[in-house]
Amino acid sequence: MELEKPLIWFYGVGMGPAVFQAIFPVYILWEEPENKQFIIDLNVGRGIVNQSSPLEEHLRRYLTVETKRRLHQPVFRSTVLHAYRSRCAVCSLAHKELLDAAHIVADRHEGGIASVVNGLALCKIHHAAFDAHILGIRPDMVVEVREDILREVDGPMLRHGIQERHGQPLMVLPGNRAEMPDPGLLDIAYAEFRSA
Ligand SMILES: [Zn+2]
Repeated sequence: MELEKPLIWFYGVGMGPAVFQAIFPVYILWEEPENKQFIIDLNVGRGIVNQSSPLEEHLRRYLTVETKRRLHQPVFRSTVLHAYRSRCAVCSLAHKELLDAAHIVADRHEGGIASVVNGLALCKIHHAAFDAHILGIRPDMVVEVREDILREVDGPMLRHGIQERHGQPLMVLPGNRAEMPDPGLLDIAYAEFRSA
C-alpha cells in the first residue's frame, strides 16, 4: 500500500477449493485493520475482467459500476446470500436484514477464504451460536447442539430456535453444487466445535 505497487488479487470463485479469478492490477488504497479489510481501487481493473469469465455476477457489477469499493465483505455476503436464496441454512428464516454471511472457517485461519464454499447464510442468532460453538455443523451437514445447551431449560428461542435444530439437516443449501460448503472446511469447523 505504501509503495503503491500493483497487486494481483486472487478471488475465490466458488468452483472448487482452489479456483480463483485473477484480477489485476489492483491497488490498495488504505486498510482497516479493525475490520480485517482493505480498500481496493479497482478503477484500473475496468475492462480487464472478461465478461464470460466464471466471476460471479455480483463482482462483475461491482467492477463495472463502482470504482472504489469495500469489496471483500460485500461480495462475500451477496454471493453467499444469493446461493442460499436469502435464507438461514439452519432455520430457513428469510429476512435479509436478519441474515449474515458466516465464514465456516474464520477468516483469520489459513483456510478461511472469502469464497462461497467457506460460507453459510445464517440468521444473527445462528451465526452467533455457530461462532460461539453452541451449535456445530457436522461434515454431513446435520446440526449439532452442544450437550449442556441441550439440557438447559428456557424460553422459545432456546427451545425452538436452538435445541430443536439438534440432529436436523441444514434446511437450506445452494442449488448449485459448486457453491456447496467445502467438506474439508466443514471438517475443520466441526473439529473446533467438538474440542471447544
Ligand atoms: Zn437461523
